[in-house]
Amino acid sequence: MCKAFPFIAAMFVLIVTTGTFNAFTVRRLLEDKSFNFIPIVVISEIVFIFTLLNFLQTAFTDPGVLQKENEEESDNDFHTPLFKNVIINNMTVRLKYCDTCQFYRPPRTSHCSMCNRCIENFDHHCPWVNNCVGRRNYRFFFCFLMWLSLHIVLTLSLCIFRCATVRPLWSDIPSLIVAIVCFLTVFPIIGLLSFHIALIKMGLTTNEQVTHKFSGSDNPYTHGCAKNFINLFCKAKPLRYLGYKEMCNTKPRLPFFRREHGYKLQPNEDNVSEYSLQVENTDV
Ligand SMILES: [Zn+2]
Ligand SMILES: [Zn+2]
Repeated sequence: MCKAFPFIAAMFVLIVTTGTFNAFTVRRLLEDKSFNFIPIVVISEIVFIFTLLNFLQTAFTDPGVLQKENEEESDNDFHTPLFKNVIINNMTVRLKYCDTCQFYRPPRTSHCSMCNRCIENFDHHCPWVNNCVGRRNYRFFFCFLMWLSLHIVLTLSLCIFRCATVRPLWSDIPSLIVAIVCFLTVFPIIGLLSFHIALIKMGLTTNEQVTHKFSGSDNPYTHGCAKNFINLFCKAKPLRYLGYKEMCNTKPRLPFFRREHGYKLQPNEDNVSEYSLQVENTDV
């Protein structure tokens, strides 16, 4: 099956359902002169535009792909230790060597088996957007969930109002179908949004939560609930590691270099400021 099929299907459902809602429910509500529906319809259309924009931004933004080590330059040394320890905010974190990308995965990085790339701050691979969700597009993903929840709630409310006032009920089948689609999706979407609100509060990614990464220890990446939310919405989007030539003159450095420093890890300054990170000298 085509990898993009769930993305195309999700896009199709979103656009066709909203189109049907606009063509039938909204048009008939606006014809009803007993109540002024214009403000709520305008809000509903704005919410839909933000939903679509964030959906497309999640799908088409580089999630934080780390460039693979150049295979010709790379000397695949069997003596390379599989793990290295670093200290982040006074807590020891183990970094694993990625055999495919040939570097030590920076903190919170995981190799996505679907994309076959290491993704920084890997959250999960989302088939509905046909992309990984990671450091550079998590904000768009979370905003997409917020706008989508609001979009479904508004659409469902207006459809229920329409179905409740029309007699007989089957004289407005399109509104009834849209209401059923919204009813079936509203609980999973709000559930997913609540799950991500809880994750941000704890400073975790989905990957860290499902693998119980910090179940027996403190999480070194959390800055406290308020700062986690501030960082999510207010921090500048990090530069891409790929395609840097078109975007700026200086190459953004990988968080850790293997080759430049032999087999010793060397944190780059950006990470030091983000994590107050030290490299432990001992290999594991
Ligand atoms: Zn990798
Ligand atoms: Zn992926």
